[in-house]
Amino acid sequence: MAIDRSTIWPYREGKVGEFFYSRYDHPTGVEAERALGALEDGHALLFSSGAAASTTAALGLLSPGQTIALAEGCYYGTSILLRALERWGVRFVEFDQTGPPPDGVDLVWLEAPSNPFLTFPDMEAARAHPARLLVDSTASTPVLFRPLEHGADVVLHSATKYLGGHHDALAGALVFASEEEHARVKEFRGRTGPIAAPDTAWLVLRGTQTLEVRVLRQSDSALELARRLADHPRIERVRYPGLGDEVAARYMSGGFGGLMSFDVSGDAERVERSIRLIENATSLGGVSSVMETRYRWEGERVPRNLIRLSVGLEDVDALWADLEQALG
Ligand code: PLP
Repeated sequence: MAIDRSTIWPYREGKVGEFFYSRYDHPTGVEAERALGALEDGHALLFSSGAAASTTAALGLLSPGQTIALAEGCYYGTSILLRALERWGVRFVEFDQTGPPPDGVDLVWLEAPSNPFLTFPDMEAARAHPARLLVDSTASTPVLFRPLEHGADVVLHSATKYLGGHHDALAGALVFASEEEHARVKEFRGRTGPIAAPDTAWLVLRGTQTLEVRVLRQSDSALELARRLADHPRIERVRYPGLGDEVAARYMSGGFGGLMSFDVSGDAERVERSIRLIENATSLGGVSSVMETRYRWEGERVPRNLIRLSVGLEDVDALWADLEQALG
C-alpha cells in the first residue's frame, strides 16, 4: 500500500470523513492495525514506541490510586517507566509471574516470555485473578502465542522488535479483546498524541508480511543454539523456554522464539566484545543477531555474567562458530 503522509483530509461537503487529522488516525496506520488485529484476533492500536504503548496502557486503563501487579524480571524499561508514573498516583508491585498474582491489584501485567530472564507466566493463575490482564508478548509474537485466546484483555508489543523486524522502525502496539475498550483508548491516544507516524506504520505493515517465516526460522535457530550452549563448558546456565519449560510448552506453539539469555563462567564483557558476526548492540527481534550483557543497563537486577542474545536470520552454524570463538 502507498504511504499517505497527509496530516489533514478535506471535509466532504462540510462533513468530516473517516480521516481528518492524522493525530487520531491515518490510512497506513489503520491498515497496519487491521493486519495486527487479525494476527492477535483483537482490535489493535499502533503507537510511536513500545514505551508509548505502555504509558498509554498505564494511564489510559487505570486511575490514580490503582495498582498494577508487574511481572518481576520483565523488561527493565517497563519497571522504570511505571516507577516514573507513580508521581501521577498509579502504583505498582512486582510479583513472580510463574505463580498467582497478588490480591488487591487492578491490573496484572505479564511478559511472555520475560526479557531478559525468559520466564513464562502462569496464564491460568492470572486468568483466575479478578483484575484485568495485560500481556506483553513482544518476545513471543502472535506467531507463537496469542494471549487473548488465554484470557488476556490487552496484548502489548514493542513493534520495534519482531513486528517491524529489521532494526529500523520504532513502534508499539496495544491489542484489545474488547471493541469498546479499544475505542476508549483510541480516543485517549488521539488526545495525548503518541500515534505511530505513517512511515513507521508502513514498516510495521511490511513486517507483518514476513513475520511468520522470520519468527519460525529464528525460533529453530535459537533452539539449536540454546542446546549447543547448554553443553558448552564455559556456560553456567541457558535461559530459554525451549529447554524444558513445561508451562511455556503448554502455551507456545511452533517454537519458543528467538530470544534467550545465557550466563557465562568468566568475563561476559570480554565475550560480548569478541563477537564478529553477531552485533554487540541492544534490542531484539531483528533480522540480524544482536547480543549484550544486560548488567550495563540493569545493574544488580541481573547477574553480571548474563548475556542476552536475539537470534536473527543468519546461518545457524555461522552463529554457532561466532559464539564458540568468542567463548573461547
Ligand atoms: N516491552 C518489551 C518486552 C521490550 O523488550 C521493550 C524494549 O526493549 C519494550 C516493551 C519497550 O519498547 P520500545 O523500545 O519500542 O519503546
